[in-house]
Amino acid sequence: MIDSSIKSRSPGDEVKDLDVRHIVHPHAVVGRARPPVVVVRGENAHIWDSDGNRYIDGTGGLWLCNVGHGRRELAEAAARQMEQLEFYASFWHFSNVPSIELAARLAALAPEGLDRVFYTSGGSEGIETAVKLARLSWFAQGETNRNLILSRGSAYHGASWLATAATGLPLLREGFAPLPPGFVHLTAPTGGAATDDLIAELERSIVEHGPERIAAFVGEPVMGVGGVLVPPDDYWPRVQEVLRRYGILFILDEVITGFGRTGKWFAAEHWGGLRPDLLVTAKGITSGYFPLGAVLVGTRVADALEGHPFRHGFTYNGHPTGCAVALANLDIIQREELVTAAARHGARLGEALAQLERLPVVSEARSFGMLGALDVVPADEAALADAFLAAGIIVRLLGGKIVMSPPLTISDDDLEAFVEILGNVLAEASAE
Ligand code: PMP
Repeated sequence: MIDSSIKSRSPGDEVKDLDVRHIVHPHAVVGRARPPVVVVRGENAHIWDSDGNRYIDGTGGLWLCNVGHGRRELAEAAARQMEQLEFYASFWHFSNVPSIELAARLAALAPEGLDRVFYTSGGSEGIETAVKLARLSWFAQGETNRNLILSRGSAYHGASWLATAATGLPLLREGFAPLPPGFVHLTAPTGGAATDDLIAELERSIVEHGPERIAAFVGEPVMGVGGVLVPPDDYWPRVQEVLRRYGILFILDEVITGFGRTGKWFAAEHWGGLRPDLLVTAKGITSGYFPLGAVLVGTRVADALEGHPFRHGFTYNGHPTGCAVALANLDIIQREELVTAAARHGARLGEALAQLERLPVVSEARSFGMLGALDVVPADEAALADAFLAAGIIVRLLGGKIVMSPPLTISDDDLEAFVEILGNVLAEASAE
């Protein structure tokens, strides 16, 4: 238990010490804890730590704070709903008003044909759900061998068991074997790979395994955790054409790209309007103010499952408070025209990152809307990460890749300050 006197003594150090002793942090080295940055407050694109330092949040938490930090409107929406009905189960035929309203609103915003919603608490649960729905829909049609899932190297689809199997980043799979079988990883569309070769590999893989064995293909429109890997323009339309030709279900993982981040409501709207059979969302649906996700289910899957039980569901499915927060979050995105803002800010971010390619430490810049990345070759990666923090910006540095996803509400001035600081720190690292 936290000693209530801690606050009046030395807030920063006591709390940090408790953290080091008691918390196992995701993606940190166990038993080698570094003193934590204890985040105590947020306002739009800024956060403050317990030592009073202010940072520009270049990551939006983890790719998700689309409407910015500290929005009272969202706290009020949660409080109003909690006072009325904090939670009730959505299993069987129980339901609640916010989840019904949100489902209708998502169906209206989503690409055509995605009319139904299955709620989750986040992205990994969404991937689990989409893969289970895909497999079950073949099972329900008597195609019980149709269970393979095509994914790609460098993909990130989450941390749960099945999502780890779908993930294609080797370090995130290491040490967890045996992972669930049934996932085939294709080449990621990046690094100058020609679409012709990628499509030929896709077709070859389908033929080798047998189209009658392949349930679905799962992919992020733009790979995020892999390093903001943007596919060639003709990649997605051609992938979709091949999947249709072989009757393979198409799962689009829009966990980070949904709700405006790429300058469209959904990234599927780029590339001539993709029509996935299942579209997985989370993160930006509430901008992180409540853990919530939604799998949008298309006609093909819904029709295949008609009359079949779906024995699957997480406790917090259709959480009334989460759905009320999501509705208020969508109100903000619409009212403040954040989808357009993302396109405008994204263009500026992309231009600024491209200019940094002239620095010796930067080998490549990539961006797509308000997703940005720089490949870097610093002498000391940990020192570079510390230098960003010391200079007052938060970015994520993953094995030679700096990835960014600022709030869509960031002001022009803060975006300029962010890219300037980023450039200064990298210029210094180049001089070392
Ligand atoms: N898919 C993608 C594309 C993601 O980026 C993430 C999380 N970063 C997930 C799935 C998993 O989401 P969660 O962490 O909410 O389970």
